[in-house]
Parts: sequence; structure tokens; C-alpha cells
Amino acid sequence: MEQAIEQATGVEGLLQKRPLIISGPCSAETEEQVVQTATRLAATGKVDILRAGIWKPRTRPGSFEGIGTKGLPWLQQAKKASGLPVAVEVATGKQVEDALHFDVDVLWIGARTTVNPFSVQEVADALKGVDVPVLIKNPINPDLELWIGAVERVAKAGIRNIGLIHRGFSSYGNTEYRNAPMWHLAIEMKRRNPDMLLINDPSHICGRRDILMDVAQKAIDLDFDGLIIESHIDPDNAWSDAKQQITPEKLGEMISSIIWRKEDI
Ligand code: PEP
Ligand code: MN
Repeated sequence: MEQAIEQATGVEGLLQKRPLIISGPCSAETEEQVVQTATRLAATGKVDILRAGIWKPRTRPGSFEGIGTKGLPWLQQAKKASGLPVAVEVATGKQVEDALHFDVDVLWIGARTTVNPFSVQEVADALKGVDVPVLIKNPINPDLELWIGAVERVAKAGIRNIGLIHRGFSSYGNTEYRNAPMWHLAIEMKRRNPDMLLINDPSHICGRRDILMDVAQKAIDLDFDGLIIESHIDPDNAWSDAKQQITPEKLGEMISSIIWRKEDI
């Protein structure tokens, strides 16, 4: 796969490439892990942006809740070593300030934050006067209005470069997917925001490695603009979301074996 559009620079350019591929660990764990993941991802030549969770909104207490601000300099190192811009999840105003202070290039709002207008507003307020791209995940429940509301709050704060991440919707009990894709909701969101980037997050939809490729391919067949997929240098021993992560090299193979749209090749 060759780059459809030359990698542009600057805030406008960061989300412009098609397909846009974001990858990296669910959570930043150690400096070595972050830097190694970044350089191995960059070596595949298939990845545009490095992702890493610094503050982790875990469903229940007691599990790893993120390395916190001390991980942000690791991302600076990873960026220097790999040349990849970096993306981090933010859920509070303070996290926005800290991330920007450490040169994070792209911010994203997680599914557990999109459900809460107070939190989204707090993040939006911290973004006023800042020119940074923001990706907004769908809320964990299948409520399109909440997703749209979050987009509106961020847009009203003056953010021009907004993208959407479809990560599926939670339901009770054991199901095939960790989060049901409910593709029609993502398609409807794109219909209402035709000019906005829409990328798919197979990792959080699947919750497991074996069906990642099928979901990623389906998203591309449905005309999504790109993918965000978790990767880790030692997936089985990841501190969060171990079952769904893949090595950087597997990620590279997966991106290579996806059948892309003609205009992307
Ligand atoms: C994540 O991206 O690691 C994450 C916590 O995702 P979500 O907000 O989709 O659950
Ligand atoms: Mn995760």
C-alpha cells in the first residue's frame, strides 16, 4: 500500500492521510515498551500516528489505571525515536493541559467520557484557544445524540480538526464481540458529518485477536477512513487489554493483507 496522500505537516495535515492508521499500546507501561513499540511500528512503514493510554478509565477499580503524567516524557522519546506523531486519551481539563505541555499531537476522548456531557465540556473548555486535532470515540451505549453532542461541544470550543472513532457499543453478558459494532450507527454518524474523518477501532470492538482482521476489513469495505488498532511488544503480558493486542510486526502484516479501496492503493 502506498500513501494515497503525501503526509502533510501541521495540525491540518495530521488527520489527512487515507487510510489513516493509528497504532500503539492500550497503555504506556514503561519507557522501553513505549519507545520499542513506536520504533517497531515505524519500521513497518504502515503507521501514521502512535497511540498510548496514559490515564486509563478502567471499568472497575483495582486494575492498572494508567502510568499517569510521568509517562508523557516517554512519548516525547518515542516520537523522537520513531518520527511518529503521538495521540493520547484525555478525560479532564488537567489531562489536556498536561498532554499539550508534553507536545502530544492528537488528543482523543474515550467512550466512557463521551457519555458524560460535564466531562466533555470540561475537556472542551481546556481546548479553547488550542489548535490540536481531537478524535471522539462513540459513547459506550448506542446513543448517537451523545456522540453528536460531544462533537458539538468540542467544535464550539474552536477545534477545527475533529475525527470520529467507532469502537462499538457495550451490552450485557458474553457476546461474540466485546462491543457490538452496530455498523449502521457509525454509518449514520458519517452521513450526518460527511466531511469528518471516521476511523474504526477493531481492538475494542473485538476484545480478542482472532477476529480483528475481519472487523478491520469490514470497516474498509464500508468506506471508513482508517483504523486505530492496539499493538504491544509482548501482547500476552500487557497491563491492560492483553487479549486484543498484537505485535507491531503482526500489525504491519494485517495492514498489508487488508484489501484496500482502489483509491488508497
Ligand atoms: C482505549 O482506547 O484503550 C480505550 C480505553 O478505549 P474505549 O474508550 O474505546 O473503551
Ligand atoms: Mn484498550
